[in-house]
Amino acid sequence: MGGRVLVTGGAGYIGSHAANALIDRGEDVTVIDRLSTGFEWLVPPAADLVVADIGDTEKLSALLNGGRFDAIMHFAGSIVVPESVADPLSYYENNTVKSRGLIECAVRAGIPHFVFSSTAAVYGSVGAEPVAEDAPLRPESPYGSSKLMTEIMLADAAKADPIRYGVLRYFNVAGADPKGRTGQSAKGATHLIKVAAEAACGKRDGIEIFGDDYPTADGTCVRDYIHVTDLVAAHLLTLDRLREGGESLTANLGYGHGFSVREVLDTVDRVAGNPIQRSMGPRRPGDAASIVADPSKARQELNWQPAHDDLTGIVEDALRWERHLQSRNRDEV
Ligand code: UDP
Repeated sequence: MGGRVLVTGGAGYIGSHAANALIDRGEDVTVIDRLSTGFEWLVPPAADLVVADIGDTEKLSALLNGGRFDAIMHFAGSIVVPESVADPLSYYENNTVKSRGLIECAVRAGIPHFVFSSTAAVYGSVGAEPVAEDAPLRPESPYGSSKLMTEIMLADAAKADPIRYGVLRYFNVAGADPKGRTGQSAKGATHLIKVAAEAACGKRDGIEIFGDDYPTADGTCVRDYIHVTDLVAAHLLTLDRLREGGESLTANLGYGHGFSVREVLDTVDRVAGNPIQRSMGPRRPGDAASIVADPSKARQELNWQPAHDDLTGIVEDALRWERHLQSRNRDEV
């Protein structure tokens, strides 16, 4: 392979998996991360780490101008939907404004390929049917809007400048590196499988189910949980496509079927071997009843063939990582 890739947010959950996967296939990787929610120890030892904010455009352009990169994978960003509702302008700053600066630096440095971490939140409320890329884009949170604005900037830049992109819209990413090198480690987790894994490890007293009066089979929300390894594999295929001269692409990343909150928690209980305490709470504002991807485009255009489409395996990997974190933290005390 032998390309040279700048990974923004490479000390975070998905970025660190991508950095590992790129190194595994022989690419040179530089991670840029300000370490606000990421951790230096999650960055693979073979990657160069630049500790900086991507908003520092002076540092960024020096890096890009001197780095001989042929691609950027852009994962850095803020990801908590309710936080974006409470503090929208910081989301537009951190996700949209800084991405604008990054795209500009990339164009100026002549970097031809850009892979961007987007989200199903660009669609807003969807029905029970799987959602395809041509569905209306009606984000319902500043988080979703901040990502959609970046998609638009990239598309416009690609019309005017010699840069091609892949926009990958993630559904619910979960699990951890099956080789145990990295996993979801940020504090203050809000995502279901991570929170449940923490509860199963005794880091929390239990878990609250946010509403069971939705129009779904068991009344709890349905989501399309995708293993981070499959998600990252699609990034590498996107990069290959761009390098081979393929057109820019926007594609969903999910499996095309969903699980309810109760089904996820039943799986966690079964894998952990003992039940976590559940309490029933009110609906969380902004949650849609069901969000499931139509992943046909990624399968067809990228020849993406997921290998971890199995909720039990996702939960096993998440739990293994959670236990690893627990012993790591004990060792550090
Ligand atoms: N959820 C829950 N309890 C929690 C965390 C999440 O019931 O402690 C539910 C949440 O309401 C949603 C689903 O789990 O229906 C997935 O939520 P998550 O925050 O993981 O991802 P989202 O789909 O919001 O991006």
